[in-house]
Amino acid sequence: MITGELKNKVNKIWEIFWTGGITNPLSVIEQFTYLLFIKGLDDKQLAEEKLAKDKVFDFLKRENIIQTNLTDCSLGRLGYKPAEKYKKALKNTDKKMLQLKVNGVEFITERRVFDNGANGLEKVNCPYCKTNNIENNWAEILGNWYEKQGSYKLQCFTCKRESDIFDFIFYPTWGFGYFGIVFWNWGVLSQEFISDLENITSTKIKLIEGRL
Ligand SMILES: [Zn+2]
Repeated sequence: MITGELKNKVNKIWEIFWTGGITNPLSVIEQFTYLLFIKGLDDKQLAEEKLAKDKVFDFLKRENIIQTNLTDCSLGRLGYKPAEKYKKALKNTDKKMLQLKVNGVEFITERRVFDNGANGLEKVNCPYCKTNNIENNWAEILGNWYEKQGSYKLQCFTCKRESDIFDFIFYPTWGFGYFGIVFWNWGVLSQEFISDLENITSTKIKLIEGRL
């Protein structure tokens, strides 16, 4: 089920690729990094996540890491292009990044599954007994999460205990939350940069590496 859902999502993104006017898709490195800010997982946290978003945006602007105007640089959606000091955020520097059409920073302030795209899932372990539950009924619970209805709990195949969707352990990392930032084609972000963002927002950050 997960494979099917992911496939749909990726197909959708590919459509945007083709209709977005990218003439040579082979020149695009289809890599992305999500930084997911995890504070709380109920709707009351939404206001706080918005506050965190403002703090992060101000920081990135002040440090001259992103440009201040929104442009079409995030795969058909609006984002902020890298500014003069963008390298402050990176572990390694990729000179090609600036030439890419898709190299924006996109803010997401809505309930989302932060998945790793085509990197796929190896296993999803129960937080109690650690057995792999990847074959469990994820479609329904993921749907509930998107639509804000029903239960986010899933019963483990093996130990029969129920856990919330976000307590299962995803390999590679996935996340569930309300506020994330996507760095399109930025490559590896530096640990120092991530720590700065954690300090500014007093929030733990989960890093999700994905590709299309
Ligand atoms: Zn279990």
